Amino acid sequence: MPAPTHISVIGGGLSGLSSAYHLSRRFPTAKVTLLEQSPRLGGWVHSERVHVQDDKGNEAGILLERGPRTLRPNSKAVLELINLLELQRSLLVVPKTAAAARTRFLHIPGTRGLTALPSSVTSLLATPLGRAIALAGAREPLRSYPSAIRLAAEDGDESLHEFLSTRLGPELARVLGSALVHGIYAADSKLLSVRAAFPSLWGLAEDGRGSILRGVLSRILKSRSPEPSANDYDLGEVPRIMQTASIFSFEEGMTAFAAALEKAVIEHPNTEILKNDKVDVVQKDTADGDVTIRTQSGRIVSASHLVSAMPLPALHTLLERSSLPSLPHLTANPTSSVIVVNVVFPPTPPGQPIHPTGFGYLIPRDQDWNASVLGTVFDACALGGQDTYPSVDAPKFTKMTMMIRAEPSAPPVTQDAVLAYLTEHLAPAHPLPRPVYFSANIMHECIPTPIVGHVQRMKELRNAVWREWGERLDVIGAGVGGVSPIHPTGFGYLIPRDQDWNASVLGTVFDACALGGQDTYPSVDAPKFTKMTMMIRAEPSAPPVTQDAVLAYLTEHLAPAHPLPRPVYFSANIMHECIPTPIVGHVQRMKELRNAVWREWGERLDVIGAGVGGVSVGDCIEQGRQVGRAWDH
Ligand SMILES: Cc1cc2nc3c(=O)[nH]c(=O)nc-3n(C[C@H](O)[C@H](O)[C@H](O)COP(=O)(O)OP(=O)(O)OC[C@H]3O[C@@H](n4cnc5c(N)ncnc54)[C@H](O)[C@@H]3O)c2cc1C
Repeated sequence: MPAPTHISVIGGGLSGLSSAYHLSRRFPTAKVTLLEQSPRLGGWVHSERVHVQDDKGNEAGILLERGPRTLRPNSKAVLELINLLELQRSLLVVPKTAAAARTRFLHIPGTRGLTALPSSVTSLLATPLGRAIALAGAREPLRSYPSAIRLAAEDGDESLHEFLSTRLGPELARVLGSALVHGIYAADSKLLSVRAAFPSLWGLAEDGRGSILRGVLSRILKSRSPEPSANDYDLGEVPRIMQTASIFSFEEGMTAFAAALEKAVIEHPNTEILKNDKVDVVQKDTADGDVTIRTQSGRIVSASHLVSAMPLPALHTLLERSSLPSLPHLTANPTSSVIVVNVVFPPTPPGQPIHPTGFGYLIPRDQDWNASVLGTVFDACALGGQDTYPSVDAPKFTKMTMMIRAEPSAPPVTQDAVLAYLTEHLAPAHPLPRPVYFSANIMHECIPTPIVGHVQRMKELRNAVWREWGERLDVIGAGVGGVSPIHPTGFGYLIPRDQDWNASVLGTVFDACALGGQDTYPSVDAPKFTKMTMMIRAEPSAPPVTQDAVLAYLTEHLAPAHPLPRPVYFSANIMHECIPTPIVGHVQRMKELRNAVWREWGERLDVIGAGVGGVSVGDCIEQGRQVGRAWDH
């Protein structure tokens, strides 16, 4: 297949922006076009600075977020972008020791006030919730997990609620699991796939034969981390800056991140960004496989390769409108809509804070599994450093963000309604003051929920994309899931005979894992290539072993998260009659051979080699070592 000459990326959210950035670096001579339907890039990223003033004349410039607000330092891809875009100086890092990182609360429906989630062993025993967690945690490794076998199955999966219920009991699963899911997906923990949304929990349970704690222990004993090697990323000094970080953002908010990506994309000589123009139709040119894109304004863009970085349902609609064959599972997941409420309170007298210090609180489902308000982030604690004041010691405003499930039947979200919610949740000692700023914005279908079976469905989607489009289309974005390395780490894989006892590809060795140390690179942290060796039975009737055929085999065997890149080296060599097979009766026959040699030749002839004493190099060397032993006496 031809190398990319013109790549079009549809969707200018963080997925599309980062793919346009990386593609323009990886293929410096190819043209890269990023197409976005709205007038601005960044997708759900939306920071804005508002000027606020109270009736005492205090004022400030408060940075508010309507979309994502904080990032975790565990994503090497994000850390790499911070390094490559030189954003180190604009970072706002919250250390692990800060109260904003350590202290998180729950508001239990039907009660007033907040319950602190345990953050240490002593705090674990201090509250009824902590003691319940400690007790369930102590029992967890002792339980038996008859369903553990499902963990290893290729299509094994269950909902987070089911997973936690089995390990911690249904009540804790409701309280902790549903609150956690509200904080990340604004969704229902009975629907969310644990394998897709919390792969590390799934991996620990897999290692611990069902138990998460046994999994943690086994990892500690084996000192094993499933993380990809940091060497694969160009991280510079960023890991050092992040060493003590719990979460982080940017002084000018998440928009600074999107803006830096946009600037880097546009500065590349071969890239263009087309905003405010929705992609309307995509056509495949049957002659050369190129793609023609038509936008709503009538623009025509042709491309050799296409990246869909828009929500999966939008891709579904686009294919339908384009009369192209549909792809499976694009509309399988529901998408949550939320109302994001930004509130700023005026400075309060000393000793009368609006809320306790901490990250914020989440609200679990009630006994009837209902949810309306999902939680509130105390932005002033973690991200107060984004706000500007006339002087260092000026009195500080309090900003917070409440998330509410957007449902057609829900009452309107007014300032008074939000104040009533906050009064119930925070149970403040003094009535809450009137906010100096209030906004409630509905985010329609903003967070896709990967429901049970998502990982398997995404494999099927990738296979269908590969069958239908080959390398010409890549589908990425929040609805698809995290990226995986090209192959899992390990020695490799073997392929058994099929039901009819046929075999063609015998297996593949992941040489880069075991033997990567043989390869030479210009520097220690240079990005690493991936080498592997596939063995195929050489038979006269077999089709020719071309690069495309091998790529198709690998795609089927590895089911990679993204289409495999074009190899930078490929060779296929036939080894005629290279491995003798010691068939049944071999040992006895070799005895008879040795006796015949002895009778015929005495000590004058010795017969050794792979066909006699074993095919491994060790067997052959051992035979070489033994030969002539009888000659010294
Ligand atoms: C309220 C909220 C809070 C969040 N908080 C956090 C957080 O604190 N931390 C965190 O890590 N994550 C958070 N997230 C999740 C994270 O922000 C998103 O998963 C991520 O931004 C999604 O990026 P994306 O590029 O995949 O999708 P999107 O941002 O949805 O981008 C897709 C883009 O495609 C464009 N598009 C669609 N159709 C077309 C078309 N036909 N032609 C051209 N363009 C098209 C859209 O306009 C859009 O710009 C939050 C999300 C929300 C909504």
